[in-house]
Amino acid sequence: MSQVYEGTNKVLLAEFFPLSAIATTITGAKKLEVLSQNHGATLWVPEDLIHIKGAKNYTISLKYHIAQLWQTQRAFVFCLATGAVVRLIAPLLQHKSTDPAVVVVDETGSFVISLCSGHQGGGDQLAKLIALQLGATPVLTGASNGLGLPAVDMLGVPFGWRRGNGEWTGVSAAAARGEVVQVIQEVGSTLWQNHLPPGHSFEFGASVTPKAKIWITAKLPSTPALPEIYWHPRVLWVGIGCERGSSRHLIETAIGQVFREHQLAEDAIAGIATIDIKADEVGLVELCQERHWPLKTFAADVLRTVSVPNPSQVVEKEVGTPSVAEAAALCAADEVRLFVPKQIFRLQRELGAVTIAVAEAEKEYIGRTGKILLVGTGPGQLDQITPAAKTAISSAEVVIGYSLYIDLINSLLSPGQIVESLPITKERQRAQRAIELANWGLSVAVISSGDCGIYGMAGLVLEELQSIGWDGKTPSIQIFPGITALQAAASRVGTPLMHDFCAISLSDLLTPWEVIEKRLEAAAAADFITALYNPRSQSRTKQLIIAGDIFLKYRDPNTPVAVVRSAYRQDEEITLTTLEKLLDVTVDMLTTVLIGNSHTRTHANWMITPRGYLGFGS
Ligand code: SAH
Repeated sequence: MSQVYEGTNKVLLAEFFPLSAIATTITGAKKLEVLSQNHGATLWVPEDLIHIKGAKNYTISLKYHIAQLWQTQRAFVFCLATGAVVRLIAPLLQHKSTDPAVVVVDETGSFVISLCSGHQGGGDQLAKLIALQLGATPVLTGASNGLGLPAVDMLGVPFGWRRGNGEWTGVSAAAARGEVVQVIQEVGSTLWQNHLPPGHSFEFGASVTPKAKIWITAKLPSTPALPEIYWHPRVLWVGIGCERGSSRHLIETAIGQVFREHQLAEDAIAGIATIDIKADEVGLVELCQERHWPLKTFAADVLRTVSVPNPSQVVEKEVGTPSVAEAAALCAADEVRLFVPKQIFRLQRELGAVTIAVAEAEKEYIGRTGKILLVGTGPGQLDQITPAAKTAISSAEVVIGYSLYIDLINSLLSPGQIVESLPITKERQRAQRAIELANWGLSVAVISSGDCGIYGMAGLVLEELQSIGWDGKTPSIQIFPGITALQAAASRVGTPLMHDFCAISLSDLLTPWEVIEKRLEAAAAADFITALYNPRSQSRTKQLIIAGDIFLKYRDPNTPVAVVRSAYRQDEEITLTTLEKLLDVTVDMLTTVLIGNSHTRTHANWMITPRGYLGFGS
């Protein structure tokens, strides 16, 4: 069965949508075209600019046009003088927590300025991603960028934490000045701490003299003496049992009262949990919609298995489980801890009654669907990575890969990104970890050298996903190709791959040797130019010898062979030799061997396979 479908190559800038790109000149429009063509942004140009593919025209003055769009857009990218942009948006700016991100690209496409809403609006991140696309320099002027610190008002964003009360400007300023900022983290993931720059001024223990504090807590603020901010990871599941017809107002008031009494922040609410027969309870459904809370429901059979402090026989008789609120809260929170035992709540002159219990989950609810970006980083050197792959790495909240490759792309990483490098043998663990984090809601880049789909991590991730019954959509997947070793190696010696070729990995760790041998025979017999990957390791030495012998059965001993080690890396070594002398050259796991076909020749240190323009076999 064949199926036509639209590829999903528009995930990279998705979080900035709706995104309007605005240019007033042809040069500017050409600069921003990539945003509309590759990423689906709306490109706006004045009416007199024709021939800009896919652009829309604005027909009123730019000032009014922007004003009309302002409320509906997450981000604006202008190719216009910064001064002009400042004048256009000045009357529209309200607050950094609500304004869209505003980014300005200069007409030469050399610089991408994050102008407004750099942190909370994501302007800095957007500027970085666009700069990578255009090969430009991002201009970020926020203080935390200079220090290499994650901005204090951004550090919980990947985990869906809510910003609570606090002196956000004061604490940001203290961090920017490099003053000691004490972090008191009571709940939520600590993964954000794993890629802080050396010498950062966050103190995680009891600090001697903090100048400011960051609370990461489910609790409400007390009266602070210092500048303090409150991040609220969404760890609290509110279990609710209610009489039929209890109003939204009643339920909301009950939650409010219970939270106030226990000094808990409503921003820390992950969602609501109840029994399945309440899935259509109007007040509950309305409240969840309004507050963007998920409503988790459980069957009575499940709830009755949970041990709770306050079971009730009356409830059991009615719905078949001795507890709804406590049991549902615990089920939703994976039974970690009941924070508030059940409390019954009524309002005078209102029908209905609500029972509320609160449980705390170990892991916060992120509230997003995650994605996995499978990225090929090319042979090694940074400029051999595609702009799209660089953008993918930069945009990801988590980067997972083999330590050597993480080191090679280190300069693309930013503070606040979670970086997990695992030893070379832990491929499956890497794939499973990526899936676990993406299923939780994070965007995860899994990097492989070369092309990720050629003896790389991409295949493994897809296989693992398939084995756990993935629906093909969630988490979403996007694959970023890279220059594979055979291309990199070929480019260093000439044009050996100009005719039909194949790749064979000599590693028999995952493939039986008989299969490899059969393929070597077939490739040699069919006169394919052949790239040998994983040709030899310290313990696997005989494979290359056998491969050489097989090819010698079918090809001239003088057939040109290129041995390319660490192409595009600092320790690159290139040797042009012949089939019969192949074993005289040092070959290891960082090497690719290219064996020419019967027409391949060398010319002054270059390896050339004729395509046939000058006559086949000439
Ligand atoms: N996904 C990678 C291949 C991984 S298998 C890619 O597409 O290139 C690992 C093998 O690739 C190594 O044993 C070696 O044969 C080859 N290889 C990877 N990087 C290389 C480089 N920079 N130079 C030469 N060979 C390389």
